Amino acid sequence: MPSTQLSQLRKADYHVHPDYSLDATGSIDEYCQRALQLGLKEICFTTHYDTDPFRKDIDPFMRIEGKVVPLSKDSVRRYTEEVRRAEEKYGSQGLSVKAGLEVDYSPHIEERLREELAGFDLDYRLGAVHCLDHIAITASNEAEKYFKRKSLEEMVSQYYENLKHAVKSELFDAIAHLDVYKKYGLGFYGKEVLVAHRGFVEPILELMAKKDVGIEVNTGVLRKGLKEFCPGQKILVLALKKRVKIVAFGSDAHKVDHLGRDITKAYLLVEKLKRSTNGVSKTTVR
Ligand SMILES: [Zn+2]
Ligand SMILES: [Zn+2]
Repeated sequence: MPSTQLSQLRKADYHVHPDYSLDATGSIDEYCQRALQLGLKEICFTTHYDTDPFRKDIDPFMRIEGKVVPLSKDSVRRYTEEVRRAEEKYGSQGLSVKAGLEVDYSPHIEERLREELAGFDLDYRLGAVHCLDHIAITASNEAEKYFKRKSLEEMVSQYYENLKHAVKSELFDAIAHLDVYKKYGLGFYGKEVLVAHRGFVEPILELMAKKDVGIEVNTGVLRKGLKEFCPGQKILVLALKKRVKIVAFGSDAHKVDHLGRDITKAYLLVEKLKRSTNGVSKTTVR
């Protein structure tokens, strides 16, 4: 798990896709060297672990030494072993290297995930809802196919319902990019998407606080032209008021050049929100 000290998270990037993910470039070694250049103290790799059988031709693969192989216990082991070797190599240079997975969650695969995750050597389990009705709403070439079928309220309702089960499952240390539907939803539904969490997110944040599941602040959406992080400021304020732990900042790097991007900016925002939330703790923030 990441440090519990917010100030230490400032020098850490906890959402990094090396070239084990099919949609990413950059080796574990290249990322670690870049982390040292940037003065990071910690890097956590979070290779995709997407196993919905309805998407068996699209998702469940990994790239190992340039070859695409099926996601399996063996391929995950080879990935975590390389991270452990990097941990040994870079630890003495002042960089802590952690092994994580970004696990795509849907209720219908929960029990299988429980068995599989128990067998992996991981420091960090990052849960993410990417797919609704087996369509990746986080993928530019798929999102509209799903959005066209749903009103904004239907989409958000289904998203948060799945997220609620992800939190309840207790499989994850943290939830990735909490309001990620806005990434492509903003272009499709318009600005309303930015406040569509109201009434849906509050009980989930309460559940997260109760179950001690944290959130990350994901800076990757800024690269997509969005103005706010994931989650946005309104959700962050709600999370702080409900005592949900912000356990990580993550660039969601898919290439070496993305590493650490906007993390200082996100950290300063959270510091500011923390101060103002403490100052107005009796005021209702919506
Ligand atoms: Zn993700
Ligand atoms: Zn990611």
